[in-house]
Amino acid sequence: MARQTDPVCRLCRREGTKLFLKGHRCYSPKCAIERRRNPPGQHGDKRPRGNSAYRPYLREKQKVRRIYGVQERQFGRYFRIASKSKGVTGEALLAILERRLDNVVFRLGFASSRPEARQVVRHGHVAVNGRRVDIPSFLLRAGDVIAVAEKSRARPVFKDRAAEAESRSVPPWLSRDLSTMSGTVVALPDRAALDPSIQERLIVEYYSR
Ligand code: SF4
Repeated sequence: MARQTDPVCRLCRREGTKLFLKGHRCYSPKCAIERRRNPPGQHGDKRPRGNSAYRPYLREKQKVRRIYGVQERQFGRYFRIASKSKGVTGEALLAILERRLDNVVFRLGFASSRPEARQVVRHGHVAVNGRRVDIPSFLLRAGDVIAVAEKSRARPVFKDRAAEAESRSVPPWLSRDLSTMSGTVVALPDRAALDPSIQERLIVEYYSR
């Protein structure tokens, strides 16, 4: 009988690394990557992957796109914005992705994964500078204050997240107050504060072909 594999977990298996898309499950032995590091299929995935020189660039782009849950078109748009910025393009791209509201809600520990954070934002549970914002791709600026709406804080799910967040640290460019379930963008994220396993140079080369 074919083994059921969560479609979300398939994305991790496709990229051969953990993308942390399922919240608590990602940190448990139930994680598909932990259980089996081989490609999908009873005897492994026999599909030819090709050895084209292009492949590592494509895979890195896809990996980062999937980590942040961004569609192809929007990812390309972020790249164009990053390439016009004064800084290093790859670093600017990662900074834009980090500044997304859904990512910041996740980083603050108000959601257990980015997909959950996206849902929390879409359902109107989050305010920025006191005003409700239900757009996950909303880009935050330094000084912005993000908070779980007062009415929503009493919900069991947010009480759970607040309790769990006590053991989760926040990146240095954010500050957090769990008593009010709020956080502030202290500064824009720099490369040192971002995931060191991401090779943004490959993404820049992918778009520069
Ligand atoms: Fe699934 Fe999370 Fe493990 Fe990825 S990291 S395979 S989403 S459980």
